Amino acid sequence: MPSYSAEWVLPMTGEPMHRASISIENARIVAVGDAVADGRDLGHTAVMPALVNAHTHLELSYLRGRIPRTQKFLDWIRTVIAARRRYPDPADPEIVNAARVAIGEAHATGTGLVGDVSNTLVTAPLLREASLPAQIFYELLCFNAADAESMTNDARAKADAAAEPDDNVRVSLAPHAPYSVSPALFAAIRTDLDAHSGQVTSVHLGESPEETEFIRDGSGPWRVLLEELGVWTDAWHPPGTSPVAYLEQIGFLDRRVLAVHGVQFDGDDLDRLRTRDMTIVSCPRSNQYVGVGAPPLEAFYAMKVNVALGTDSLASAPDLNMFAELAEARRLAPRVPARTLLESATRRGAAALGFEDDYGTLEAGKRAQIIAVAVPPDVSDVEEYLVSGIEPSDIRWLGTD
Ligand SMILES: [Zn+2]
Repeated sequence: MPSYSAEWVLPMTGEPMHRASISIENARIVAVGDAVADGRDLGHTAVMPALVNAHTHLELSYLRGRIPRTQKFLDWIRTVIAARRRYPDPADPEIVNAARVAIGEAHATGTGLVGDVSNTLVTAPLLREASLPAQIFYELLCFNAADAESMTNDARAKADAAAEPDDNVRVSLAPHAPYSVSPALFAAIRTDLDAHSGQVTSVHLGESPEETEFIRDGSGPWRVLLEELGVWTDAWHPPGTSPVAYLEQIGFLDRRVLAVHGVQFDGDDLDRLRTRDMTIVSCPRSNQYVGVGAPPLEAFYAMKVNVALGTDSLASAPDLNMFAELAEARRLAPRVPARTLLESATRRGAAALGFEDDYGTLEAGKRAQIIAVAVPPDVSDVEEYLVSGIEPSDIRWLGTD
């Protein structure tokens, strides 16, 4: 039975433990203890659960470095649409290879569970091949769906075919966003979710001011783009509310719906999320890259909404290093305790994705998805150190050597 002791063990169920140990058997944690056990001494390291990247799009990894940073969200959207049109085959080797490299990079930076949005399901076999647990959100996007029900039924059949029998790569259906999905399609996806009690879904929500404007009164740059794309329909009537209030009105929201971004959320929106015990997945580096501003992270925490973190895709983030995302979260939310931020990147993400029984903390019975981060000897506040930006070269996985 391999055992490790280290300067710090962070179970993420409470205080960090100083000079503590952890034992693993058959890929599960069997004990986490105060006392330093026999076995390998890792010295000045912090042992902690692998991080959870609760929102990314691995299939967009081939766009890395190709979509410029912008001040206008619609510019970013237009560039992505144009770039994706140049790669019509989802199994294009460039797409597949880039996603495979990105999965390797996520693992090398200490990520052990992902929430992966996919329009093509091309990432399912890649995640399985890499043994990276995942909740894949098979994303549907259609503003003028003629038959939302058959579209959803067809997607469900593909989702089930792509899911892994051992439950480590799960596939659910997810709507893209309130400005790109018809009310009928939201309703059909909600019906599908209700029929699959163990699953969770996600929706991009409150990301840009353009979204807020469009949902409020049906105008602005998003309306122009829908018309340009030839998908605008007069059957759609502006809800006249915030995007969160709109999804509440159509009965879409509950705790199994991850609200991704929330940059534009106000106090009433946050109240709606908190009363439903929902989770916001914040992607602070992406938000600033696509020109929608910084997320009000301190307000999320102050309003006691669950917060998970994600990198979003390599079309809007420089890398998939969750420690870099944590460092940006720390910069934007200096008053939030480091432990709270670390919880967002571990147990909160695992819980939001429905994987809390196996991942997110170091507790007996959970799977041994454990990383060890080198910590300089003069560090006294290990939690603060871990949200200050960690280089991949300082991260290793336990139980793999
Ligand atoms: Zn996204």
